Amino acid sequence: MSLLQVENISKSFGGVKAVQSVSFALQPGELLALIGPNGAGKSTTFNMVGGQLAPDSGQVLLNGKNITGLPPRAIWRLGVGRTFQIAQTFASLTVIENVQMALLSADRMIFHWWPRAASHRRDHALALLSQVNMQAQAYRSCSDLAYGDVKRVELAMALAHDPQLLLMDEPTAGMAPGERVALMELTRRIAQERRMGVLFTEHSMDVVFGQADRVAVLVRGKLLAEGTPQTIRDDARVQQAYLGT
Ligand code: ADP
Ligand code: MG
Repeated sequence: MSLLQVENISKSFGGVKAVQSVSFALQPGELLALIGPNGAGKSTTFNMVGGQLAPDSGQVLLNGKNITGLPPRAIWRLGVGRTFQIAQTFASLTVIENVQMALLSADRMIFHWWPRAASHRRDHALALLSQVNMQAQAYRSCSDLAYGDVKRVELAMALAHDPQLLLMDEPTAGMAPGERVALMELTRRIAQERRMGVLFTEHSMDVVFGQADRVAVLVRGKLLAEGTPQTIRDDARVQQAYLGT
């Protein structure tokens, strides 16, 4: 059984067929890159997996369980984490407080934030920060960090509820080329250690072909091809439709 199985999902907005009968599967520990030009339907696909949008048809299975159309919070509780294109941290809090906040949320204690924050699972927060190599900056304010470091804090926050599947929509947007590879290399190592699946979108072909285990290509809402980075790179239809060579 796959960790994630997406079966023939479709979504239209008025007359725009944003996603048309798209299917793919993802295994534990695997990084699957969803690539395609702007407007191809990548974010819409993500939102149907994460519950922000309900598909018009088709289904989404997590470990064989039908999660189609469940609200985002329910899907999150079942083990699907998310990062955002623009990193979502609280700038006025320290790095460790941000992770403690995420742990409170994972423990369903978010309403206890003010009295409990300073002590809540400090050791676990530090362990998560060490996984993303941010332990040394734990007590700095998030507002003082370089953007690449904020991204790593956001990753630690996403790991707080121990997701089986992590959705990353354009995780490296706004980052320098070297930082992009580093962030996804780190993500890959964490995914392998935890046996966590990662579905991500990415524009940098260096990152896609260097870090993904498999690549799925969306063009105008349809899945054009899916396979290893090598087979995708060599696929004439992909080159013609997307890579522009
Ligand atoms: P990508 O993430 O690959 O750039 P999107 O999934 O954001 O693509 O968009 C796919 C298509 O659906 C585009 O034509 C876009 O304009 C349209 N679309 C996406 N979201 C909405 C929405 N909420 N309302 C109307 N049209 C939308
Ligand atoms: Mg998008």
